[in-house]
Amino acid sequence: MLIQTDAIVIKINNVGESDKLVTLLSRDLGIIRAFVRGAKNVKSKALSATELFSYGDFTIYAATDKYIVREVESKQMFFALRGDIEKLALAQYFAQIMLELAPREENADDYLRLLLNSLHFLCRNEKPPMLIKAVVELRTMAMAGYMPDICTCSKCGKAESDTMYFNVRTGQLYCDECAVSGKRISLSVVVAMRYIIYCPFNKVFSFVISDELVPELCEITQNFLLIHSEKKFTTLEFLESLHIEDFNG
Ligand SMILES: [Zn+2]
Repeated sequence: MLIQTDAIVIKINNVGESDKLVTLLSRDLGIIRAFVRGAKNVKSKALSATELFSYGDFTIYAATDKYIVREVESKQMFFALRGDIEKLALAQYFAQIMLELAPREENADDYLRLLLNSLHFLCRNEKPPMLIKAVVELRTMAMAGYMPDICTCSKCGKAESDTMYFNVRTGQLYCDECAVSGKRISLSVVVAMRYIIYCPFNKVFSFVISDELVPELCEITQNFLLIHSEKKFTTLEFLESLHIEDFNG
């Protein structure tokens, strides 16, 4: 059976002399792994179209026990990622987030769009990379069903108070009168988190937050992802090993 779907390559494993096994985030089938025959043969048309972060229209043959890439109509290669180790490291982290959290063998349109949008913004330098990271972490977690209870104070239902507290482990928000646990959180960060989770999908990157609050937002979204997904992100460890000093602007 032949399947046609938009997809982006998020991981590559070489297999034997000339084949490779690519992990795809696809619109129609979510995360799937598919073989590319003769991928290392320079003449193979599939060669460049199945590099890391290649996005295109994939025609995939579904055999009984595996998928095989038949053809790829390349749409976007994200070349700007290749010459920049920091952007590449961040993109690989985004890819791993998708690998761990996107559905398998079912529609993953939102996940694919989120990854594509984040890579576009990363390549174009239109947004601070750390802000893109915070959006990818929190929105993906929300899509995967890990939703912090960020709308109101968990105890009294108040939506806002001068000082609020957020417990990243329980995902609960408290006003200043009800706080029993959690860390102080700026109201603007609460508002940004609500926006990232609940805004219409096509506007998820269209919010503004002052530069000095980006680290606070990033710390929360990253910890929320690590604690609640219970996954180990080797790509994040690599990103952190680069010790990027000024990644916010
Ligand atoms: Zn309260």
